[in-house]
Amino acid sequence: MVVLKRPPVLISMTTPSIPSIHLLSSQVANQIAAGEVVERPASVIKELLENSLDAGTTHIDIDIEQGGINLIRVRDNGHGIREEELKLALSRHATSKINSLDDLDHINSLGFRGEALASIASISRLRLSSRFHEQSHGHSIYLEGKEKTEVEPIAHPIGTTVEIRDLFYNVPARRKFLRTEKTEFGHIQEIIKRLSLSRFDVGFKLTHNHKTLMVLKPAPDDDAKLQRVAMLCGPEFIDHVLTVTKEKSGLLLKGWISKPTHSRSQPDMQYFFVNGRIIRDKLINHAVRQAYEDVLYQGRHPSYVLFLCIDPTEIDVNVHPTKNEVRFAQGQAIHGFIVSSLQTCLATTRPKIEQTTQAVNAPVSLPNTSSAPKLNFKSTIAPTSMQHQVKEEVSVYNALHPKKEETSDLFPINKTVEKAAIADNKSIQTTPPLGYALAQLHGIYILAENSQGLILVDIHAAHERITYERMKKAWQQDDLQSQTLLVPINVAVSEKEADMTEEKQDFFKKLGFEIDRTGLEALVVRQVPSLLSHADIPNLIRDVLADLLRFGISARVENHIQTLFSTLACHTSIRANRQLSLSEMNALLRDMEKTDFSNQCNHGRPTWMQMTLQELDDLFLRGR
Ligand code: ADP
Ligand code: MG
Repeated sequence: MVVLKRPPVLISMTTPSIPSIHLLSSQVANQIAAGEVVERPASVIKELLENSLDAGTTHIDIDIEQGGINLIRVRDNGHGIREEELKLALSRHATSKINSLDDLDHINSLGFRGEALASIASISRLRLSSRFHEQSHGHSIYLEGKEKTEVEPIAHPIGTTVEIRDLFYNVPARRKFLRTEKTEFGHIQEIIKRLSLSRFDVGFKLTHNHKTLMVLKPAPDDDAKLQRVAMLCGPEFIDHVLTVTKEKSGLLLKGWISKPTHSRSQPDMQYFFVNGRIIRDKLINHAVRQAYEDVLYQGRHPSYVLFLCIDPTEIDVNVHPTKNEVRFAQGQAIHGFIVSSLQTCLATTRPKIEQTTQAVNAPVSLPNTSSAPKLNFKSTIAPTSMQHQVKEEVSVYNALHPKKEETSDLFPINKTVEKAAIADNKSIQTTPPLGYALAQLHGIYILAENSQGLILVDIHAAHERITYERMKKAWQQDDLQSQTLLVPINVAVSEKEADMTEEKQDFFKKLGFEIDRTGLEALVVRQVPSLLSHADIPNLIRDVLADLLRFGISARVENHIQTLFSTLACHTSIRANRQLSLSEMNALLRDMEKTDFSNQCNHGRPTWMQMTLQELDDLFLRGR
């Protein structure tokens, strides 16, 4: 043990001097602001492109060197900047886009904070050159750190060029966080992609290290727009999209969404624009996910490029310095509008004449049922420990659907029509989209003939969807039956959640719940929708409350019931190996044509595919 012989010496008894309060120099203030706005070269590109778009440009040239670390140059043919305003444009809080806070209420420009150029200039070597559209020649100003050169005349076409060299040369801390040239350039490409999706009327050209990488001409019509989307999002995307155009009470939603059968493993192809501004928003994400709720595999993601046009007074754009967020005055209405618009669009995914050609492109990746255990159709009981639960659920199904004779109930057949149709099998004009059944393959697939060639249907997947949609419809038409609990369930919640429950009494009642508050943080559930009598009620209620607090709405209960239907549909649908008669097969085909969403099963797998005669000819090298 060490024994201290002397007490430690105190270094100083005086208090350290307290710095006096002073104003930061504009240079430091700008550098601090730059910390928020300019994270990396791509953020500079975003600000410069937004300025060009705000200036009414029709064409933008972008030159990048070394992932933007060495050079970023953006040149536009917009209205330009007046000679006498060049210096001002580089000052903080200098903007031509707003005058007062009220102007933010109806903002039409992408910029409005008046800080991008000043921030960027404070952390780089910047040259701003411009010729105002009413002036005969251009002018240029150079800024390095705090040093500004005088404005000097130069030759310049109408429009503006901003050239930025050595980004972060005086901010070593930021420079350290820059990634490789390739990574930084990847971010730049992503930003350009987003902005060029937002403005089809503007042409873009991009070079990197003097190599031309992208040329986008202005896209005046729908075909050209789709071509641009194909260039930016890949031809795969446009081969399998549905077009959305929906308008309701001052809201307009336009764009493209992926078919459920073409989902992605990552949410990396999702672009949502509000009045031309790309945004990331929880409410929007939630709405899109909900629209796809029962047509996508869990963990899969839809792709979309969607544009929402809304009265500018209904949104607040001043939420974040990077302007990537907006706040909606009527969040719930927007949410509902998006869900219903997308769902209507997705409901059209059923066999139609005009869709048969698109379906050709559907992947031939039908589920490998041959390796799955073969179940006898008559037994609707699951082979696992779910047996008990499924039995219960089947009784719920029966409650909704009074039982008739098993097989004929599955396929109500109009015998005369059917016979006539089969006799008419060769008549191409009257052939329905999915044609007429020829045979059943291995008890799993229907082979049918339509005007274009061969149709293959996955029987189980198709029937599952039809059953599911039928249950949903029956349920939506009926009022929800409630069941009073013999033993009420206590649910512990937070005070906020309990407040919310009281506030949303009507909402819960409509869904078939009766819930009372019994304390500051306690609820008691007395009645539940009959369909949910076996659900984990406390957890469900808590999830619903979490949604209500976060989004103002919740579709958990509906989703829960739909999941239940989905399981039911799976177990009551035709299993592999059941022999169907031709009439039964034809009845299934006709049902598919009538049923919304029937191009895919509940998990997003395709239910049918077409092989055209041409494809078959190619396969057999016919006509060569
Ligand atoms: P903000 O865009 O928020 O107004 P900026 O710092 O980005 O702030 O730009 C300051 C001002 O400089 C703009 O308001 C605009 O008047 C002018 N400006 C910047 N870039 C351009 C450009 N490419 N063409 C015309 N004017 C521009
Ligand atoms: Mg700007």
